[in-house]
Amino acid sequence: MFPERLNRLVHLFSRLPGVGEKTAQRFVLYLLAQGHGLPERLAEELLALTTAVKPCERCGSVAEVGAPGTPVWCTICLDNKRDPHLLCVVARVQDLLAIERSGAIRGRYFVLGKLLSPLEGVGAEDLPIEALLRRLDEGEITELLIATPPSVDGEATALLLSRELAHRNLKISRIASGVPHGGDLEFADQITLGRAIEGRKPI
Ligand SMILES: [Zn+2]
Repeated sequence: MFPERLNRLVHLFSRLPGVGEKTAQRFVLYLLAQGHGLPERLAEELLALTTAVKPCERCGSVAEVGAPGTPVWCTICLDNKRDPHLLCVVARVQDLLAIERSGAIRGRYFVLGKLLSPLEGVGAEDLPIEALLRRLDEGEITELLIATPPSVDGEATALLLSRELAHRNLKISRIASGVPHGGDLEFADQITLGRAIEGRKPI
């Protein structure tokens, strides 16, 4: 009963995480009712998304592309008030955001993008370990906090990293339990996540 064009938009919205068909229909009807303004701004931002925002060349988080020739660094990598000695390794940008919300640390990050997963065919060679070593070669990092999730894959990844980096002069620690096993850092409450970071254990 919806015009085909609206159906297409409903279908696109419903591909977003957490958005079902009903919510997608609400979005579309809301945008339609807004008239000019919001739909155009949304379209403009969406068009720019994949060209104006790229992975940070230093940490793998998200960064806005600046003038040609300037390095693509995220706001955290550019922030001089951060502790330059602490690097927190996370699986995904969402985990970085969750740790930032907890306020437990003010260091910098390294985003792996994926976890070691034999079941899904992700091996050590698929992880950006070379990029992490290059980041550590910058020289200022003295403490590495591995904040991969407390799942089987997250633990395997933490173990792999601790072995790969064991010969380096680094204090390596692992986020403490407290975040439920198999749980997602993104959905841990700020206090639990903050405690898990404060209670980090050397590995
Ligand atoms: Zn960065």
